[in-house]
Amino acid sequence: MTLTPPPVDRTAASKAAVAARRARAEVKNRISSGAARPIDVLDAAVDREHPASTLRITQFLRSIPHIGVTKTERILGELQIAPVKRLGGLGRNQRERLRDWLGEWERSSGATPRVVVLAGPTAVGKGTVSRYIREHYPDVHISVSATTRNPRPGEVEGRDYYFVDDAEFDRMIESGEMLEYATVHNSYRYGTPAAPIRRELEAAHPVLLEIDLQGARQVKAAMPEARLVFLLPPSWDELVRRLIGRGTETPEEQQRRLETAKVELAAQHEFDARVVNETVPRAAGEVVRLMGFDVPRDDAS
Ligand code: 5GP
Repeated sequence: MTLTPPPVDRTAASKAAVAARRARAEVKNRISSGAARPIDVLDAAVDREHPASTLRITQFLRSIPHIGVTKTERILGELQIAPVKRLGGLGRNQRERLRDWLGEWERSSGATPRVVVLAGPTAVGKGTVSRYIREHYPDVHISVSATTRNPRPGEVEGRDYYFVDDAEFDRMIESGEMLEYATVHNSYRYGTPAAPIRRELEAAHPVLLEIDLQGARQVKAAMPEARLVFLLPPSWDELVRRLIGRGTETPEEQQRRLETAKVELAAQHEFDARVVNETVPRAAGEVVRLMGFDVPRDDAS
């Protein structure tokens, strides 16, 4: 009896090859655009079903920004990995060495911002954008500030702010509990407790701080790797309209805040990125993307 091998479905096989190539190209694009962390792709490649598993190590490295042919050769030599290897086929030690190298690369290139500061002029909608992020992107850790001002209706202790008196605020400063603090609009004091931020960073979670300009500068001085994001109004008139429209301040307070806003707007070029608050979901999506999270653009429309 002769054994006849089953007929090969060439069309299906070539379709599958095309799909796999496309999926690998997608992985590379996501790395090069910053949408995916190379270290996460390496981890995902352990799963043989994942498209990254069949991605060549050379292609993987070259999709990382600023890594070209020569650098790739040098890195592979250092890590003792043959260029023909695919991500899913790395030995345990090779994977570990590559993981360590990628961790070092992330730290030195500032590829994933760990601390993102959202600042911008008064009434631009920082609070609304950060509330939207809290409600729609639960993976984002938002720092809760301490303040000496009274709670507004609907604000919750420990969620919106820690409402403290002057004595407690002084104590927090003296005991070194504040990462930064400032008197905002010449009236109340606001500060960022350092301990929760340290905890999140140790767990490798990016943290968002929604604070004023003075605070943003202090954070940058203490943590140069922090990314400062400036939220802009679509126009000055719109900013005035929003400030007056929300009706939470007296006319004198509104005037004072508009003066502060002018000074704050002039500082936008100190920032690493600018986001226009045209609509809250869009601006929120943009901020979350700047934090290194993978947010499809459609989500932010
Ligand atoms: P509001 O009283 O409207 O909640 O906030 C007033 C201003 O204080 C906003 O510009 C807000 O960004 C800022 N702010 C809130 N928390 C902090 C903080 O911890 N530090 C600093 N420097 N500013 C803060």
